[in-house]
Amino acid sequence: MPNAIVVLNAGSSSIKFSLFLEREGDLVPDLRGQVEGLYTAARFISKATDGTLKAEKRWPDGVELGHDGALDYLVDYLRAELSGIRLIGIGHRVVHGGSVYTRPVCVDGKVLKALDTFVPLAPLHQPHNLTPIRRALERAPELPQVACFDTSFHHTQPDVARMFAIPTDLREAGVMRYGFHGLSYEFIASFLPDIDPKAAKGKSIVLHLGNGASMCAIEEGRSIANTMGFTAVEGLPMGTRSGSLDPGVILYLLDQRKMDVRAIEKLIYTQSGLLGVSGISSDMRTLLASENPQAKLAVDLFCYRIRRELGSLAAALGGLDAIVFTAGIGENAPVIRSRVCRDAAWLGVEFDETANAEGLRRISTDSSRVAVWVIPTNEELMIARHTRQLLESTIKEKENENRGSTTGS
Ligand code: ADP
Repeated sequence: MPNAIVVLNAGSSSIKFSLFLEREGDLVPDLRGQVEGLYTAARFISKATDGTLKAEKRWPDGVELGHDGALDYLVDYLRAELSGIRLIGIGHRVVHGGSVYTRPVCVDGKVLKALDTFVPLAPLHQPHNLTPIRRALERAPELPQVACFDTSFHHTQPDVARMFAIPTDLREAGVMRYGFHGLSYEFIASFLPDIDPKAAKGKSIVLHLGNGASMCAIEEGRSIANTMGFTAVEGLPMGTRSGSLDPGVILYLLDQRKMDVRAIEKLIYTQSGLLGVSGISSDMRTLLASENPQAKLAVDLFCYRIRRELGSLAAALGGLDAIVFTAGIGENAPVIRSRVCRDAAWLGVEFDETANAEGLRRISTDSSRVAVWVIPTNEELMIARHTRQLLESTIKEKENENRGSTTGS
């Protein structure tokens, strides 16, 4: 009977799932899907890896499905699908592990309480990430729940990369740069040795450009700097997030515009970025297809900030061997890749326009001093790997303990 791992990624209005099977030592994706439209018009969809539809359902108007209801539905669906397969654990994407959780952890009531304390650090994501863990612990207390954090990969950064120049007592209270998208960066760092051993041992910058967007400087497989900080709003302009702002802007909004904290939160998380600048859309496809000058300006600003952050991260690395594009925009928008790479010529990038247009994996010329790659990210696989590893090491520890107590008695 093959072992299976389910990966859950719960957001404010959806719970995405992926099912992996253990086959000959590998984790093979089997099913993926989501319940989306929570609290409004909920629908469920499940697909096989080749895209074939396996199941779908829509909830009637007026039936409000929340996170708990969605999780219950998913668990029942997966249990039915899993007949003949042994579910060994659920891996959860959790945005914030604070400075405590520098690696994945098996969640029990105590850990869950600790993770709750990070809600103020990621108020728009953390509560939703934790809801399915809480529910699963209630419904299936015997099934291991593993939390994998977006922050963990960055704990290797030097202090200067993690600090704000504010008084020490605030830093000690946790006001520091944590960094996010760590599971995506970790996946890319694990993939790079296969295609570019030199860069994997050297210095690279990964551009995770999705609705949420950030960039990370990686040296010898370890994060040394990144653009997101205390929260996932720092750094690049994103779909609806502002990216870095002069802190004076926040003071001005509070003081002169009399905006309260919630209004500012809404402004910088949901009304800014590509949407705020264009006034049209947060979706890069829509902006690239638009003739509207504001849409053009939003795209210009996005590329300009990437250009500046590339320089900054290259300086933090003290050199550069490779650039990697990933996530929705990074993987699918050749126009953006072309602009970023042309802007990066001074860093030693010789761009291959044809390879880029054809969607090849390497989009720099053979002679380019800095190699440029397009690598689809796979955060779900990273979570499944972590979950399996943690469960295996927990079993080994228990076996060793038992052996110890048997030999000791
Ligand atoms: P999330 O952060 O929500 O996981 P994704 O990684 O799915 O986001 O990225 C979503 C972004 O990718 C959107 O801005 C979308 O417009 C963009 N995108 C997806 N496909 C394309 C494409 N073919 N061309 C340009 N942008 C694209």
